[in-house]
Amino acid sequence: MIDIRQGIGYDLHRIVEGRPLIIGGVEIPSPFGLLGHSDADVLAHAITDALLGALALGDIGQHFPDTDPTYKDSDSMFFLAEVAEMIRKKGFIVSNIDSVVIAEKPKMALYIDKIKFSVAAVLGIEPNRVSVKAKTNETVDSIGEGRSIAAWATALLVSE
Ligand code: MG
Repeated sequence: MIDIRQGIGYDLHRIVEGRPLIIGGVEIPSPFGLLGHSDADVLAHAITDALLGALALGDIGQHFPDTDPTYKDSDSMFFLAEVAEMIRKKGFIVSNIDSVVIAEKPKMALYIDKIKFSVAAVLGIEPNRVSVKAKTNETVDSIGEGRSIAAWATALLVSE
């Protein structure tokens, strides 16, 4: 019998100057980056949590604690790769990922395809199984005021 699981992930990081802006493993030209213990890749974190959530395996903070110096400035695509491996070992494959990056600036449109390919490559799936959408927050709240960037993601997993 086929087992189908869905998961949801969310993350938000504060904008700071002096750090690179990494979204889904892609460095996006920007005068600011995101604050975090790792590289603060908000999309990688949301997708990682969606995958963990689908198999009820806890959250990213439990698996990769931000108190662990090992993960200081860590490439968050490493977390995603580790969780993808965890899923494979449990006998599941990723059917698809849908996601939204919410940022007032910079404009993401030029980088969406690159981000999709980057995420798909780490998950070992076809790029047409990864959806990344960009939104603004219409200038309101911390995201709209350009003080933070957030991401939502869902994942659908199917047993092999
Ligand atoms: Mg995070």
